[in-house]
Amino acid sequence: MKKHNFSAGPCILPQKVLKQASDAILNFNDDSLSLIEISHRSKPFVEVMDKAVSLVKELLGLPKGYSVLFLQGGASMQFLMASYNLMKIDGKAAYLDTGTWSSKALKEAKLFGEVNVVASSKEKGYNYIPKGYTVPSDVDYLHITSNNTIYGTQLKGFPKTDRLLVCDMSSDIFSRQVDIAKFDLIYAGAQKNMGPAGATLVIVKDTILGKTGRQIPSMLDYQIHIAKESMFNTPPVFAVYVSMLTLQWLKDLGGIAAIEKRNEEKAALLYAEIDNNPAFVGFAAKEDRSLMNITFTLADQKNQEKFDKLWNDAGINGLKGHRSVGGYRASMYNALPLESVQILVNVMKQIN
Ligand SMILES: *Cc1c(COP(=O)(O)O)cnc(C)c1O
Repeated sequence: MKKHNFSAGPCILPQKVLKQASDAILNFNDDSLSLIEISHRSKPFVEVMDKAVSLVKELLGLPKGYSVLFLQGGASMQFLMASYNLMKIDGKAAYLDTGTWSSKALKEAKLFGEVNVVASSKEKGYNYIPKGYTVPSDVDYLHITSNNTIYGTQLKGFPKTDRLLVCDMSSDIFSRQVDIAKFDLIYAGAQKNMGPAGATLVIVKDTILGKTGRQIPSMLDYQIHIAKESMFNTPPVFAVYVSMLTLQWLKDLGGIAAIEKRNEEKAALLYAEIDNNPAFVGFAAKEDRSLMNITFTLADQKNQEKFDKLWNDAGINGLKGHRSVGGYRASMYNALPLESVQILVNVMKQIN
């Protein structure tokens, strides 16, 4: 039976990519060797890494002066690497607290210096994005989370600040057009919209580095990874390869402008059902609704058993909400086809 994969992460990947990736596990480059048993310094793999980096640059329209890295440790490692590399000794940082991931990020930053939470939507269960806050002029950087995977909220615009702007884009990178030049550091765990778990994408403006006065352990030092072109140690070869294939798939589809349009269509379809069907209630404030993760609950819990059976029977996977929010969450990353959203909406129409 065909599955409709609404999983929040690791997430759906294009079927074509999964097929190419499984072929490469057995026989990479027609060389009768597996992708995962050859040297990461061999020409075929160095080409994979170079291709992945150049696709990131091309798809995002990256201006000059930025480096692209594929690291390990997930976005969670970036919570501390960002602070380690950007917060001066006795420095300060500002954080916009929009959910679990931003609170985890700011917790790590507190190990390195003073953290100023410029605004938080915690008191409302993180169902909106705070606006109209001011960023202190003496902080080393402002950290934001562009899409809140768990709550289904998304920043529609980015704060204007003369401080460095750091963004966790784990769950919406490559899903919509963004002016990269506004950012100084972007990071994203691959497993939300780019590839399998194991690789973390880091995009960093070169001129901001090396200014903290800190001694940074090699594995946590962006400058070392830049100098070694993400090969300071063995990179996560499979995750980088599959990410490269997914980025190539995205390029062939017409790039970010094309996928953004599709993502908007998918989200509009589901939000319309949530708004028009009295059996469902949306979780996030309307103006802050995410295109990637759509959170909702049943208006009446008596429908839960029926609804759960219907979507399970329809082959829908991964619709359960995060344990901290409850209800339902439909994650609609790039590779999820419109057809899957249509199936979900058809199931919802049977509850009213
Ligand atoms: C999933 C997620 C993370 C954590 O990613 P890991 O790679 O598991 O560390 C961080 N930030 C956001 C926005 C996420 O969606």
